[in-house]
Amino acid sequence: MNINTFDELKTYCEKENKKIYEAAQEIEAQKDEISVEDLRKIVKKNLDAMKDAIRNGLKSAEKSFSGLSGGDCRKLQAKFSQKASLLGVIFEKITTYALATSEENARMGKIVACPTAGSCGIVPSVLVAVSEEIGATEEEEINALITAGEIGRIISNKVQLAGAVAGCQAECGVASAMAAGALAQLRGENTENILSSVALAMKNLLGLTCDPVCGLVEVPCIKRNPFLAVHAVTAYELASAGIQSKIPLDEIIDTLEQTGQLMSPALKESSQAGLAKTKTGLKLEEEFYAK
Ligand code: SF4
Repeated sequence: MNINTFDELKTYCEKENKKIYEAAQEIEAQKDEISVEDLRKIVKKNLDAMKDAIRNGLKSAEKSFSGLSGGDCRKLQAKFSQKASLLGVIFEKITTYALATSEENARMGKIVACPTAGSCGIVPSVLVAVSEEIGATEEEEINALITAGEIGRIISNKVQLAGAVAGCQAECGVASAMAAGALAQLRGENTENILSSVALAMKNLLGLTCDPVCGLVEVPCIKRNPFLAVHAVTAYELASAGIQSKIPLDEIIDTLEQTGQLMSPALKESSQAGLAKTKTGLKLEEEFYAK
């Protein structure tokens, strides 16, 4: 089975009356020459690792080696325990889980790159927080994670998922699109609404640059994770109301690739411009290298 675009995926799912995760698990199992059952066991291992990273991150206030990050997740938890979020428990969970995972990454803890380490908090936070709140089963979580994986796979056919190649739109941007699709699957949406969620999330993050301070995956990366996790929920909510992107999803992915090509190398993980070269960014860099 050869599915390279979202249009092909949608046509296949409609023709065969299959969900995205069903098509995806067939494709992956066939490619890796394993059974669908074994493939789902591998996905479960990743899901468990995501949950472990959240748990570990929630418990720790330890700083990263650079000292640039660590402790913000603890602050956010403390804030919510004193004053609830205006947006409710799911928002509290998503933002704290995203920070927990990203801070864990900066401390060199174990995380699942989905699709990259810098964007590792986005998919797990949305998936786990919503699953806990709606009481989803583990099978449903796995279905949602396979959906996210398929979205990432198809996008990666067109563009390398790396800030150094296409900016942060290809890392946190794609993670947000994957999370939006996973969430739509978790909520039982049809293929059209799942792909609309992806389109709306991705379209609104085109052009996001990669300008990490000191060249480390911490500033702005860590705080970007809770922001773009919530962005995924917005995309899902709009899509599930039947709101569609005027630009088709495959054309949005083409635009992602072209925007990446047009982006200056100074804004693609080289730390030669953007936040990395602000007065404070330069000062932090100086302090880091003096350490
Ligand atoms: S800013 Fe760059 S390094 Fe940080 S998460 Fe985005 S792409 Fe990765």
